[in-house]
Amino acid sequence: MKEKVKVTEVGPRDGLQNEKAFLPTEVKIEFIKKLISANHSHIELTSFVKESAIPQLADSSEVSKHFLKESSNEKFSCLTPNLQGYKRALDHGYKEVAVFTAASNTFTKKNINKTIEESFQAFRNIFQEAGKDNIKVRAYISTVIACPYEGWIEPNKVLEVVDQLMNEGVYEISLGETIGKGTPSHVDKLLTLLLKKYPAKLFAGHFHDTYGMGVANVEKSLELGLRSFDSSSGGLGGCPYAKGASGNLATEDLLYLLHTSGYDTGIQLDKILEASKYIEEKLGRKLMSKTYTAMLASLS
Ligand code: MG
Repeated sequence: MKEKVKVTEVGPRDGLQNEKAFLPTEVKIEFIKKLISANHSHIELTSFVKESAIPQLADSSEVSKHFLKESSNEKFSCLTPNLQGYKRALDHGYKEVAVFTAASNTFTKKNINKTIEESFQAFRNIFQEAGKDNIKVRAYISTVIACPYEGWIEPNKVLEVVDQLMNEGVYEISLGETIGKGTPSHVDKLLTLLLKKYPAKLFAGHFHDTYGMGVANVEKSLELGLRSFDSSSGGLGGCPYAKGASGNLATEDLLYLLHTSGYDTGIQLDKILEASKYIEEKLGRKLMSKTYTAMLASLS
């Protein structure tokens, strides 16, 4: 039997929040429907942030209501930056939420106007409530290899943040390689340190393709035991720190690597192409995934 790898689709949240265009709610809903029909088992739908902070996701309630109205489907999660956001997520019926911090103080300060410690204070009560409400909490650590302000990040700094998150009761930690500069040798150094202390199943790899290193970094992570990765359909998202560059690792590129390497994700790659094609037309810009481009060309 093929070994399973978990894929978390972050296109609707991480992808769309980094796109310039605001997409109408019905477009987002149609896009997510297409992702569901590709058999995705984990989709991050949206983020409960202040509308003024991320106007692209101002319709988080409408989008959530559409997919969670009948039952609180376990396949959906959302980002909750504070207790207020968490309460909104709970009201909508989410069973899983995600919180966000980073391994670089300058990054958290510029991004959410908090130091790493302050970010913990902000979501400590989310963890407490989630424990009582039986809600799973996933955490993102951004800038695990490099920071746009502080440069290369020492793996020890990441370990310190992981230690703190473990005290809070996190179920999975997504290691965000935010600016995509890291190569397999950086991934090797980081994971070797983390995996001395924690099991591989605690971590997910969240790579960006800014320098074309996305799949290479996944390959290195697989070799070291990781079996969970984040990606976005077509590579949605761009990179706010490198204008015009590729964004999140594309789901198509990730699936192509995993499926040809003998892993099972349960996701249908051809259906992901349909979701990407749909959103590409709505965004009015070319998506940069290589697998997407090659597979579309072979179909035409
Ligand atoms: Mg990302």
